[in-house]
Amino acid sequence: MSGTTSTERCDLALSTPAGRITTSIEVPTGFVPVTAIVPLGRELAAQAQQLEIDAATQEGRQVSCRQGCAACCRMLVPLSAPEAFHLSDAVTRLPEAARARIHERLEHTRAALETAGLLPGLQALAETTHPVSDEELEPTNRAYYALRLPCPFLEADRCTVYDHRPSACRDLLVTSPAEWCNDLEHQPVNTLPVSVRVSTALGLLWASLRQEAPRLIPLPVALEWAHRHAPERATGSKGTDLLDTFLDKLWRLLSQEFAARQVPPASAPPSQP
Ligand code: SF4
Repeated sequence: MSGTTSTERCDLALSTPAGRITTSIEVPTGFVPVTAIVPLGRELAAQAQQLEIDAATQEGRQVSCRQGCAACCRMLVPLSAPEAFHLSDAVTRLPEAARARIHERLEHTRAALETAGLLPGLQALAETTHPVSDEELEPTNRAYYALRLPCPFLEADRCTVYDHRPSACRDLLVTSPAEWCNDLEHQPVNTLPVSVRVSTALGLLWASLRQEAPRLIPLPVALEWAHRHAPERATGSKGTDLLDTFLDKLWRLLSQEFAARQVPPASAPPSQP
């Protein structure tokens, strides 16, 4: 976490169904924007994902996702509000030419979604402060995928914001043949389990800070959403409080994951050894 105030060293340990993950960070004791927590969440998720990859490998399953394979970049990607602001910041830092190409592709995507009649629904989804269930979202996901629209951040089948891509993009790893991902409607793929659900935890964190339901912001409208909601981007709290709240959300989600996999939790909530 970054900030301009003094910091406290914090050593974290978290048990996941695939094993234990640890990290050490400097936590600002003063006020930080909510986006400050995003890198930590992603680091924890990356460690947890590596444990899942190792477990799959030991069982003889290999991850088939490779650089340059962008079959999954035609699905609707949901972002939490902190991630939408984080992505917007990352795009702002890109060289002007790269930024211009992204905005050009976003315009193209916007036009295609408008033609297909999906744009108002996606914009409404980003703005709703009511809970949206997976079942309610399913028709939109299907209609979006049917368009086979390449993600506006995709250029020559490479992600132009790879280091800043949303958690939903990072979470998806498959062990089924890569070509199966080209026809998800007819060919279900085998995905690796996700134990550290950062996007959901960040959504819950934002909801708790804003006293509203977690938001699901569709990627094609995430930058315009972040721009429109810029006054809210300073929403945050002391770094230490933000970390506590985030870890509490993460732990609740992890508990659900332990229960879903019928694995007894290996320890109490996140410890600071
Ligand atoms: S942000 Fe990057 S990884 Fe995610 S869907 Fe778009 S191009 Fe693919």
